[in-house]
Parts: sequence; structure tokens; C-alpha cells
Amino acid sequence: MVFAVAGVPTNYKGKFADIFDWLRGMGLNGFEIQCTYGFKISPENRKIYNQEREKGIGLSMHAPYYINLGSLNEAVVARSKSNMKEGIELAKSIGVERIIFHPGGGHDNSKEGREKAITQLINGINEFTSEIDMGNVRLYPEIGGKAVSLGSLDEIIEICKKCKYCYPCIDIAHLHAREFGSITSKEILKAKLQKVKDELPDKFDKIHFHAYTINYGDKGEIKHLKFGENMPDGREGLPNLDDFIEILKEMNIDPWVVSEASDTQELGAKYMRDKYLS
Ligand SMILES: [Zn+2]
Repeated sequence: MVFAVAGVPTNYKGKFADIFDWLRGMGLNGFEIQCTYGFKISPENRKIYNQEREKGIGLSMHAPYYINLGSLNEAVVARSKSNMKEGIELAKSIGVERIIFHPGGGHDNSKEGREKAITQLINGINEFTSEIDMGNVRLYPEIGGKAVSLGSLDEIIEICKKCKYCYPCIDIAHLHAREFGSITSKEILKAKLQKVKDELPDKFDKIHFHAYTINYGDKGEIKHLKFGENMPDGREGLPNLDDFIEILKEMNIDPWVVSEASDTQELGAKYMRDKYLS
């Protein structure tokens, strides 16, 4: 089990090297490295990550946002492929086995346009993963938060079916937001996860989650909510994290859950971890 934060929480004011003790003090044991602006980690930090991984911290890595393997722009796709290869080498150097990435956008959003973008993305991944030694690194396409973004539940399942090295990153908040508030009950969320399990039986035990609550509008994601925060109109922030944790237990999922609650990711992660163990 891994309960993790996404990057350094804003509430943490100490030295980077000491953050892992701070996390352990709350019972947390995971950290998603945010390579938002590039797959770059300083030699000192690489050393710290290696030491902490050996001490039991679960490390995953979030790819830069400019990676876009489904783009209509060939130069963007070519650069994304070479960036992903660099990311895989970087992951291997610190023992990271999970790279999370956004399938992308900027495609033609008709049904055919989306299918074409997903096929291109699948072919691209299969091409560059066959050119290098993947070691233990696996790639996690993430559910996109905007309705127009690539990465619906069905698209993530399709990518994972057709790419040997891809595993699902189910961001339950993005799923809720891109479907305009679909996860209104425990049964609905459980049915979605059951679908992933049924469609990807060999990959389900390595599923990766992002879990927090989210504000959405008519285009999907607007903003991650803080842990415990309501929607601006006063409605409860969803998806319901208690339901989510109960489902993990009912489905015997060994959780790897990253909290992305706005400015409060450690509180969300601690809450879910405590609930899981209760
Ligand atoms: Zn993401």
C-alpha cells in the first residue's frame, strides 16, 4: 500500500531532504515526483530519492504537461517521444517504476478525430518502448480532466489493452469532472473500477490512483478542491473519498493512491490512509 502526495505540499516549509521524515510522521509512504517542466532531477535529489526508496518510500513520476503523443503537430509528437525516452532512463536511474502522463489534446475532437489520435498515441508508444530497454518502468496514461482531453475511461482502457507497457492511472476526480459530475454514488464509482478490472484483468493489480475532490463546469475540470472543501455553490465536493476507500477494500485492491487536493494533499492522503487502515 502506498499513500502519497503529489510534489512538495505548500504546507511543508523545511528542506527538501527532510520531507520524507515529515511524510512518515503522518504515516505516509509515497511521493509523486512532479516533472511538470521537464524530466530533470539534480544529482543531489537523485541520491535522496534512491535513499528514500530503499527506506520504503513509493516513488512515481509525473511526466511534463507538454508531452502530447496524440497531437496533430508532428514535431510535438516527435519531441514527446524523445522526451518520454529520456524520462524512462531517468526513472530507471532512481528506481521509479511508474511514469504518469497525460494522453494529451489538440486533436480533432470528432469521433473519428479522437480515434485517430488514440491510434497514433498507441502506435507511438509501441514504437518508442520497443526501441529501448524498459527495465521495470511502466507507463500510466491518466484520465484527462477536461471533456475534450484525450483520456476518457474507455480510451485509457484501450491504450492499456494495446500497449504492453501501459497501465491505468485512474484519476477519479478527473473522471468525475470530464463526465460533468458523474460520480454521485459509491455504486457508480465501483462499477467504473469493476469495468477496469474486467477489461484489464492482468494489469489491475498495478493500477494507480489520483484521488481528491474537484470543481467542474460545462467543459469538465475547473479546479482541484482543498481537502474537505465544498463546491463554490455549497454542494459537497465529490468524488466521495470515504466511498472510494471502502471500494478499495471491498475489491481487495492493494492501493497506490496519490492525493492531489489543492494545497492540502498531505491532509487528503493522511485521511485516506487512516480510513483504509481503520
Ligand atoms: Zn496528471
